[in-house]
Amino acid sequence: MASSPTDIQNENVAVLPKKNLKSAKDHTYDRDWINQTNARSFLPSDRHILKKPITDHSCQKRLSKYNGIVNRMTPAQVDEELQKRQLSTNGEIEIRRIRLKHFYKAQVTLGFENPMKMIEQHFEYIAVVDFEATCERNQGNNFPHEIIEFPIVLIDVRQQAIVDKFRSYCRPTIKPILSDFCTELTGIQQHQVDAAPTFPEVLRNVENWLNERHLLSSNKRRCGFATDGPWDFAKFLRLQCGFNSLPYPRWAKKWINVRKEFSNFYSVQRCGIGRMLQSLGLVFDGRHHSGLDDSVNIARITIELIKDGCVILLNDGVRAADPKFIDLNSVSDELQNLNDDDDNEAIVDND
Ligand code: AMP
Ligand code: MG
Repeated sequence: MASSPTDIQNENVAVLPKKNLKSAKDHTYDRDWINQTNARSFLPSDRHILKKPITDHSCQKRLSKYNGIVNRMTPAQVDEELQKRQLSTNGEIEIRRIRLKHFYKAQVTLGFENPMKMIEQHFEYIAVVDFEATCERNQGNNFPHEIIEFPIVLIDVRQQAIVDKFRSYCRPTIKPILSDFCTELTGIQQHQVDAAPTFPEVLRNVENWLNERHLLSSNKRRCGFATDGPWDFAKFLRLQCGFNSLPYPRWAKKWINVRKEFSNFYSVQRCGIGRMLQSLGLVFDGRHHSGLDDSVNIARITIELIKDGCVILLNDGVRAADPKFIDLNSVSDELQNLNDDDDNEAIVDND
């Protein structure tokens, strides 16, 4: 990424503490110092070491020195260091700095000159899910959303690539007619849901698809499910299972919250798919609020995290007392009102 001289100047002014002002020559020396210091391995048997806080004092001191040096590098110097390590130079400068810091952390923690190849991921596959649901403009918090699109985008973690996709529309039964707002938002047409199976059949098809690929095996490290935030599983799936009196699927009890992981790994505020992509130097591929396209883009973000050395673990889950859960009792009230309204509508129609 090209940076103007003014950017570089401002960058230095912004991140350099006054008492540590150094010349450009010193920067070069600092970078060399990083390369000259030996990587040191500790706690080698710990599988997810990169996720654990570093407790060794000398490692902590070394890493904080590395971080200071990275903070003082100009954007061009950051890119030069990233290139030397065959790391991406895409994305905003804050992301590129963090990428380099994570590289050094992995080097110190794992004790290898090229630590990215040594990082052991937890899952073989990650299945990204992004539901679309019925909705209305200015709907209340207790709107009875029904799932109308169930997509899955499968990431092969070792290949760092999307390797398979599934998509099914679902026919809603509580409110079978999509609002114009919903069709405009999601791009899903009435005839598509009319021709689709209802949710219980779609869930069976989904589980068959997953089983054919051995993704629901008892090996917990075979596949993890990922969504953008907590809502897809904690709200939409939970609501829908309630509507159909289906047990909540075991495989969706814990998941990878990509938005949360992104924010933790790159030390940025939580943000939506578009903003995450932008900060990585990527553009949205497809149509926003299409479940399959959203899933593909969440998968692209997840792949960037993997490439940057983030060990992807389950980091969110269904917890009964969680305030992010929609109150199913209040939805029942809402459904009762809705049924009353439907009765009224039927009377009006008959007239
Ligand atoms: P998304 O994954 O952002 O496409 O959203 C999933 C679902 O949330 C949509 O299918 C809608 O049911 C609902 N939703 C998202 N954005 C809105 C909005 N602005 N107004 C009403 N419902 C929304
Ligand atoms: Mg979506």
